[in-house]
Amino acid sequence: MNVPNRESNNGKLAICPGSFDPITLGHLDIIRRAALMFDRVIVAVLVNPGKNPSFTAEERIDMIRRVVEGISNVEVECFDGLLADYTRQKNAQVIVRGLRAVTDFEYEFQMALANRKMNENIDTVFLTTSAEYMYLSSSMVKSIGCFGGDIADFVPTCICREIAERLCLPQYRK
Ligand code: ADP
Repeated sequence: MNVPNRESNNGKLAICPGSFDPITLGHLDIIRRAALMFDRVIVAVLVNPGKNPSFTAEERIDMIRRVVEGISNVEVECFDGLLADYTRQKNAQVIVRGLRAVTDFEYEFQMALANRKMNENIDTVFLTTSAEYMYLSSSMVKSIGCFGGDIADFVPTCICREIAERLCLPQYRK
């Protein structure tokens, strides 16, 4: 049997797509682990205004760039439109997504199949969340931060204050 070795991963580009509104320690964990598995990783921030994000695309990209500064094979970009088109344009082989719970699975499975249908050269790889981040999401950070709660355990330290200050503004209290 022809068993592929680690060398066969050479040149592999993985895309970590998401809203990152804002990036959390759960996202960072997935990005770090992807960076160990693939030669290059692009964190692709979805611009889609339809999702009505709390942070602008520029703010999200800027925060992620500062957070991943020390990881040499990680880049940050934004994208709009279909992820399948973006992966084709980048000549990427892999989409990396994190799975927190069974509830994530059905949607992710459907998206992986749809993306492969639209770009037959792309595979989706799922990384299981690290147990300590299983409950963590951007919306949870926003729900706590908007009432002045401490978000230090949930987001990277270098952007914690910026996120906390922003979320305390009255328009985020829903
Ligand atoms: P999207 O709106 O595309 O789901 P998110 O920013 O919410 O974008 O998430 C981007 C990716 O990060 C998704 O694959 C999501 O499952 C993963 N992710 C988010 N939070 C966690 C976490 N705590 N642990 C593992 N993966 C996570």
